[in-house]
Amino acid sequence: MGQADLKRYQMYIGGEFVDATDQSYIETINPYTGETWALIPQGNETDVDQAFSAARKCYESPEWRSLTPTKRGKLLRKLAVTIEQNAEYLAKIETQDNGKLFKEMYTQLKSIPAWFEYFAGLADKVEGTVIPLDRQSVLNYTLREPLGVVACITPWNSPLLLATWKLAPAIAAGNTVVLKPSEYTSASTLEFAKIFDEVGFPKGTLNVVTGYGHTVGDLLSKHPLANKVAFTGGGETGRKVAMNAVSHFAKVSLELGGKSPNIVFADADLVAAESGVIAGIFAASGQTCVAGSRLFVERSIADEFIHKLVNRAKEIKLGDPTLPDTQMGPAATAAQLRKIEEYVDIARSEGARVRVGGERPTDPELSKGLFYKPTILTDVHNSMRICQEEVFGPVLSVIPFDSEEEVIKMANDTQYGLGAGIWTNNLKRAHRMARSIESGIVWVNTYRATAFNSPFGGYKSSGIGRESGLEAIYDFMQTKSVWIELSDEISDPFSIRT
Ligand code: NAD
Repeated sequence: MGQADLKRYQMYIGGEFVDATDQSYIETINPYTGETWALIPQGNETDVDQAFSAARKCYESPEWRSLTPTKRGKLLRKLAVTIEQNAEYLAKIETQDNGKLFKEMYTQLKSIPAWFEYFAGLADKVEGTVIPLDRQSVLNYTLREPLGVVACITPWNSPLLLATWKLAPAIAAGNTVVLKPSEYTSASTLEFAKIFDEVGFPKGTLNVVTGYGHTVGDLLSKHPLANKVAFTGGGETGRKVAMNAVSHFAKVSLELGGKSPNIVFADADLVAAESGVIAGIFAASGQTCVAGSRLFVERSIADEFIHKLVNRAKEIKLGDPTLPDTQMGPAATAAQLRKIEEYVDIARSEGARVRVGGERPTDPELSKGLFYKPTILTDVHNSMRICQEEVFGPVLSVIPFDSEEEVIKMANDTQYGLGAGIWTNNLKRAHRMARSIESGIVWVNTYRATAFNSPFGGYKSSGIGRESGLEAIYDFMQTKSVWIELSDEISDPFSIRT
């Protein structure tokens, strides 16, 4: 297909759909077919400036100021309904762009309206407080106010869900937004912009600029008009984004990577645990920030449990992500596939034993796609690179353990702290473990569950701040303390009033 035949997207700035000012594009590729299917504008500094000016102009406009929290909530609810109506279409676009299973993307898309509804409901429930000062002649109260313009940067693995986790609380809180999706998966966000445009928000409420991370992403995070930068992506990028944001004192929230432990005790429901472990690492081809990539299994059941997992992994059906019986799609990008291959090679060289997988499939019907077989490694040690660094692929490292104390130590011995799974039927142990694990999310006898009203975020190097839940809206607001003198008494100008 020549460039002229490809679908050509436009960016969304100040309520208008526009090309990049220098008319340049990035090709977007379907990782299953290997074919380029659309062109995404390659934004530049002028485009970024225009997006921030539009967002700031909107934020300062009488139209935005007169949009009360209740009215913002109403518009967000309307947006939720429109997304619901377009969920299937948007999910198809995401599958075409990142190769994840259509059934997973469709489930995600159908869940997105709940986030907009939740934050729509919160918009007019964020209250300040009256502070009971010792000085009774003074009324002191707090106001919760928006920050201004929020820059949002999102990755390729769940483009619209992760954009929603930022947009819904940011707009509910009264901010306007400049959003940059991943250069690999910008199409669904640009389709979303078309839906957003129909809802009736003031022009400039949301602006979408597309382009590369090292150019457009970098410009977003250092833009002087960005009052906050909300980022999801890898740790190294997160560090650059945070440094840029802090250099002009913008607030920053980071949702980063993980090396999450899945811990199976001998007293667990082992059938459920097996499914949970498989879901944790092989769903979405392991390309999730909460992937349960380290399995700790109690030694007394380790051999049999590993044997069953290996058999399950062999049966996982790789294939066309749009088909309902496919269980694993391709990696999203060629660079990602190379990274997976390199990590398995490193693990091998450090002494790991490949129990299943460890290579690309050879089936001719998978030859065009970026596939990697579900892989299970044993004979690994928690200090090996495969257990310490994020692979973001279908690679599980298995380590047996003998005691609670030992497994807590190993599970926590990582720079990360995003998710953790604990499989046990012992109630006291479940609570003990939940307290002992250093991570933002602990799942007991389940894995990968999320909800609009439950906080999501990382301990340690897995991030700063929380998305979803009540806390998330406060991350997009600032608090003002207002002091009102009620007495007519004139105070001594040279003594501080306490
Ligand atoms: P990435 O860090 O490469 O890119 C993320 C975004 O940052 C993209 O939009 C990219 O264009 C942009 N970017 C790249 N370089 C930049 C720079 N110098 N300045 C500003 N922006 C820049 O991550 P990815 O490969 O797209 O996504 C995978 C990573 O995301 C994994 O590490 C994964 O764990 C993490 N992730 C975290 C969560 C979470 O909620 N904690 C969720 C999903 C993914």
